[in-house]
Amino acid sequence: MRVTKYGHSCLFIEEGTARILIDPGSYVFKGNDGEISFSTASRNHAEGGRGMGCDHSCAYHAAVRGTTRKLLKPEDLPQCNVLLLTHEHADHTDPEALKQIYESGIMNQESGLILTNEGVKKVLTENGIKFKIEILKPGEIRTVQGVTIRAIACDHGHIADHFPRVENVGFLIAGKLFHPGDCVTPSEEVQAEILAVPVVAPWMAVREGLEFVKKVKPKYAIPIHDAMVKWPEVPWYKIFETGLAGSGIEFVKMELGKAKEF
Ligand SMILES: [Zn+2]
Ligand SMILES: [Zn+2]
Repeated sequence: MRVTKYGHSCLFIEEGTARILIDPGSYVFKGNDGEISFSTASRNHAEGGRGMGCDHSCAYHAAVRGTTRKLLKPEDLPQCNVLLLTHEHADHTDPEALKQIYESGIMNQESGLILTNEGVKKVLTENGIKFKIEILKPGEIRTVQGVTIRAIACDHGHIADHFPRVENVGFLIAGKLFHPGDCVTPSEEVQAEILAVPVVAPWMAVREGLEFVKKVKPKYAIPIHDAMVKWPEVPWYKIFETGLAGSGIEFVKMELGKAKEF
């Protein structure tokens, strides 16, 4: 089995003649543009660089590298014959990217197949995605190009009470690689040699991710759901801002080194 990572939770798996693409969501194609304003302290850090004892492997420098790398486009993805979508959140299911995947022929327009759940199917249908879509319910197995794809019951991790819950499905591929989508607590026991483990998300604690790996006991654990590492503040602040909207509590985003009178 050959595995290629395309950013965030997007993996490409080659097994025999099966070419399986999972979750080519919005973060796979997104840079930091306009999203991040680095604080003065961060800039000083960048300018000080190695002199400050940083070997440029820190989160700040990873973010800076993210701003200069060439962004991946949907048409840069490899040819595949099946697409697996774990759930409808944009960082996993990006209708615009899927349209481009359709137009550019990355997956054959006639024989290509999307395996997913009801929630995603609804979003795809509303957005006019023309690929053939099949629902794979937890416990069900579909064989594609001689490779088994089994749906695993995997509830989406809880973000916050003001976020609507969405349906999430995990996929066990060839009985060997498990991609859980946005979940580190599947409701059934899974055995996998390769485990794609979410590492950074507002719906999980890092501790839970680690416990998940130890419970499954794979031979290899591959980090996924890590695009947020590039955007140190934005996703986390947004959850507090939206969650506290209308509560009468002000969420004050403090600028480093800049005093505010309370
Ligand atoms: Zn999600
Ligand atoms: Zn996600």
